[in-house]
Amino acid sequence: MKLLQESLMELIRRTSAEIPDDVHRATLAALEAEKKGTIAESAMKIIEQNIQLAKKKSQPICQDTGSVIFYVDCPVGFDQITFEEAARKAVVEATKKGFLRQNSVDSITGKNDGTNLGPGAPTVHCHQHRSPEASVRLMLKGGGCENVGAQYSLPNEKIKANRDLDGCRKAILDAVLQAQGKGCGPGILGVCIGGDRATGYEQSKVQLLRKIDDANPSTELDKLEKDIVETANKLGIGPMGFGGKTTLLGCKIGVLNRVPASYFVSISYMCWAYRRQGVVLNGEGGISNWLY
Ligand code: SF4
Repeated sequence: MKLLQESLMELIRRTSAEIPDDVHRATLAALEAEKKGTIAESAMKIIEQNIQLAKKKSQPICQDTGSVIFYVDCPVGFDQITFEEAARKAVVEATKKGFLRQNSVDSITGKNDGTNLGPGAPTVHCHQHRSPEASVRLMLKGGGCENVGAQYSLPNEKIKANRDLDGCRKAILDAVLQAQGKGCGPGILGVCIGGDRATGYEQSKVQLLRKIDDANPSTELDKLEKDIVETANKLGIGPMGFGGKTTLLGCKIGVLNRVPASYFVSISYMCWAYRRQGVVLNGEGGISNWLY
């Protein structure tokens, strides 16, 4: 339990202070692409300086800790109760050490007890798999960007979106338009087509665990992902909504089955402070390797 707790502490520290390499590469490419001397270039430069400074000082990239969400893939027999206890302890310890800002409040009273613990905080999703290894991915999902997430029920007359991939495209691009100037862009979209209202949103966040430069196994969806990024980056919204070429760094789309009566498109918007890291644990709870 102690070693597992220490491993989770290190996972939290690194997630909070270090942007994963694939995201950093995309940020640097966006900085390079912005026109010199523009506000968009300045915004990307500040973002880059922030990323460098947080890593060097081992301090949170952003004051908004965001929702602390663990995704665990574990073998049969893995003790989920012990894992959740260790995760909660690690969150409290990481908060004490300043790796996580005290940022979780009681939803009714608004009281902050300073621990980042409470109902749903942290959230732990466990899934069993046949592999003997356990892997743990952690996402810190900022509040500002969570506020601009959106769910569309198709057909939607307002945006003229039917129940097909073109309708999904219209819904996703409408969400990008609605988010402009909010959500701390450039953004990365996690999208789910189908499911119900709860599973759609949940799957949209799972899509954010993918690497920015990966390819969707479905040719059709891969094409749509690339088209969304390309089209959004021609809208002129730019970093933080200041104008420019970088509105989105990525778009990842997954699909769940639906019932014939429903057709949801659920969109989770991730901000530039795209904090996700992951580890593979050995049998004793130590870290055997990093996933991003
Ligand atoms: S939305 Fe992201 S960048 Fe903006 S304040 Fe929250 S964590 Fe920070």
